[in-house]
Amino acid sequence: MSFKSLGLSDSLLHAITKKGYTEPSPIQTKAIPPILERKDILASAQTGTGKTAGFVLPMLQILSESKQAKRRPVRALILTPTRELAAQIYENVKEYSEFLSIESTVIFGGVNQNPQVRALRNGVDILVATPGRLLDLYNQRMLSLSQVEILVLDEADRMLDMGFLRDIKKILALMPARRQNLLFSATFSTEIKQLAGSFMTDPILVEATPKNTAAELVIQKVYHVDKPKKTSLVTKLISQGNWSQVLIFTRTKHAANKLSEKLTKNGIASLAIHGNKSQGARTKALEGFKNGTTRVLVATDIAARGLDIPLLPHVINFELPNVSEDYVHRIGRTGRAGASGEAISLVSHDEHDLVHGIEKLLRQKLDIEIMEGYEPSATPPAPKDEPRRSSGGRKPDFRKGGSGGGQRSAGQGGQRRNEGQGGQRRTDGQGGGQRKSGGTGGQRSGGNAPRGNSGGSRSGGPRGNSGGQRSGNSRPNKGNRD
Ligand code: AMP
Repeated sequence: MSFKSLGLSDSLLHAITKKGYTEPSPIQTKAIPPILERKDILASAQTGTGKTAGFVLPMLQILSESKQAKRRPVRALILTPTRELAAQIYENVKEYSEFLSIESTVIFGGVNQNPQVRALRNGVDILVATPGRLLDLYNQRMLSLSQVEILVLDEADRMLDMGFLRDIKKILALMPARRQNLLFSATFSTEIKQLAGSFMTDPILVEATPKNTAAELVIQKVYHVDKPKKTSLVTKLISQGNWSQVLIFTRTKHAANKLSEKLTKNGIASLAIHGNKSQGARTKALEGFKNGTTRVLVATDIAARGLDIPLLPHVINFELPNVSEDYVHRIGRTGRAGASGEAISLVSHDEHDLVHGIEKLLRQKLDIEIMEGYEPSATPPAPKDEPRRSSGGRKPDFRKGGSGGGQRSAGQGGQRRNEGQGGQRRTDGQGGGQRKSGGTGGQRSGGNAPRGNSGGSRSGGPRGNSGGQRSGNSRPNKGNRD
């Protein structure tokens, strides 16, 4: 399959060649033709699948085929949950439209609105926006959405998680009813389906799995450690393992800052990325991390969401996320083709309920270990209810939603918590290696770990019949709204 055979114009093909893409990704192959036919699309895809080009390329073609009004009104709106994602999509729009007469801009909060207002006044065909700033500028009468022909809701599940549903509904009411709607989401919860049903017309369902997933294996490790010792343990893991690129997740912006400062003090070049950082600082941190000058990026979930970071060898959960699904997203950042990635979680006494929530979501037991020299002062509380186990010994395949949500029990899964020393194993941590202390027959959890696709694990996909696998503890994460 070639881009040309998808029906894209020469100007777009030129831009695609310049980007170095040789063939369309599966989501592009599936989404571009129906979008060009002006159909509504409900797509199950996440960052890493090439979804952005999947909607931007046909959008550019459609917009450039019709006559331009003199004063360019906004004809296409791309809504995204975070600033980073908005900025990334805008970059792509600019690159793909290089050989077309199409104007675009991006608006998001946290930065001075004046340059954004100036860009809007000059007239734009495509507007990339986060919901908050969009409504803010709309309320100031700085923009109109009355001419929008194409709407894209990107990472729709995340927008709902972040509490943007009301804003989205308000924005939908500002646009003409007759328009093309494209909705992209990693998961399809009841809320997403309800939202889609409220404004889409006979959408075509499109599903894609991320690239680079086939040969990947994510080894999950969970260390039970007292909270005050976490920084020291992280430092040890990174230094002794000689890890060069590590993404660390914290639950809060404050924790991200504190950890980043401490790591830097300990001689590990680190930067934090979260919603309180200026856009410039966020961009700089991301660049440094990608080009290798920053060894560790400490991020909150929201800041990391949607970032185009290549798959990494090491992801550390300094704190477990409050929302179990975020764990799956986090560990989906690791695992490289042909090599196993490692997702390490540091779990203090008060976080064991979160472990249970994750186990329930994964339908898989996580093997909790103790690092020598970092023995916790208390044993973890027993789970209130056991995650369901299936009799099958198959690995969970997180790449496909399919019926039943694509999640299966590990079967021969991790060691039971009540074996041996309260279900915990000791390791000496040399180079991240593990040693069993008691010969309890514990197994590495990694063999049954989800592969490097985060989102697919949670979704039944638009065509699946499970309605997604979101756990009951998913709650709006408004604290980090961008
Ligand atoms: P996305 O999922 O849209 O965030 O894209 C993930 C990455 O894949 C980005 O770095 C894109 O530039 C890249 N990409 C998108 N489409 C293709 C393609 N057809 N071939 C190679 N890389 C691509």
